[in-house]
Amino acid sequence: MNPPLLSVRGLSKSFPIRSRGFRSRLVATVQAVDDVSFDLNAGETLGLVGESGSGKTTTVRCILRALTPSAGQVLFRPPAGGLTDLAALSESALKPLRPHLQMVFQDPFSSLNPRMTVAEIVGEPLVVHGLAKGAELQARVDDILKKVGLKPGHRARYPHAFSGGQRQRIGIARALIMRPSLVVADEAVSALDVSVQAQILNLLKDLQAEFKLTYLLVAHNLDVVRHFCDRVAVMYAGRIVELAPTAQLFESPRHPYTKALLAAVPWPDPDRPMKLEVAGEPADPSRLPGGCAFHPRCPDCFAPCALERPALREVTGASWTVACHLPSATQPPSVLPTHGTDRG
Ligand code: SF4
Repeated sequence: MNPPLLSVRGLSKSFPIRSRGFRSRLVATVQAVDDVSFDLNAGETLGLVGESGSGKTTTVRCILRALTPSAGQVLFRPPAGGLTDLAALSESALKPLRPHLQMVFQDPFSSLNPRMTVAEIVGEPLVVHGLAKGAELQARVDDILKKVGLKPGHRARYPHAFSGGQRQRIGIARALIMRPSLVVADEAVSALDVSVQAQILNLLKDLQAEFKLTYLLVAHNLDVVRHFCDRVAVMYAGRIVELAPTAQLFESPRHPYTKALLAAVPWPDPDRPMKLEVAGEPADPSRLPGGCAFHPRCPDCFAPCALERPALREVTGASWTVACHLPSATQPPSVLPTHGTDRG
């Protein structure tokens, strides 16, 4: 088996909160991401899900080095060259690697400069990195516009002349013109109408096959994740609490938080209204509770949960891991009890 394209190891990011005034002092620390580890294989799509504030976006911003991690490694394998820890590189050392790491943003309008034409927006990364100019630049812009379903005739227009879906196609073209290995899509379709979402997701799938792309998808829409991702990592309070192949996660979720998230998905049946299974507020990352951060909301909380933070343990090998004290959470499907409680 080929080594992973990306290995994230012990990634953490904290933000200091300081008091106002002349003599500002540290009053708290927000632990946005805490000891996150996962592998991402070439050609794979990994979904990162969780409520707002769970640390998904901070995690991907650290991976792309839009933020500098507080601790941990981001081991990336560029097409030519050995394994490189992005977390340890200076900005100048990162620059030659940036073309291999691209992002598709949530809001296709605010992420496009309204004063630039489509050709300027899409071709800008090639210009910035000195990779093409003149006729070659024009040809590469026209080529990628066609690949994302736009016409070369669109190149002279400005973003305001396009629909939301078309603007997202422009954003995708801008990301893919660099022929990246890894594309991070942060809520890339959540601002679009449902019918347009499906078109953009299908486009991303087609482009993945054509360009052999690897996707890291940040989403709160579990339907999108279910149809788009090979594996899913569920985050709560800055940590991964469950990571599993998509089919297993949706068929047999193990972590109580994963179960609660799945229960919160709106049913298409109008007689079965949307409901949130878990009461309580999401954990405050500046005042995380001791033990398992989910324990104040967890319907299965028992004695050890407030005392000891559960480590990620394997269910069926490294591809399915869960951080929960419940014995059943990490038992292989074949030995799960059918009756009674499993609180250790
Ligand atoms: Fe719930 Fe305890 Fe598992 Fe945390 S460790 S999810 S509180 S059962």
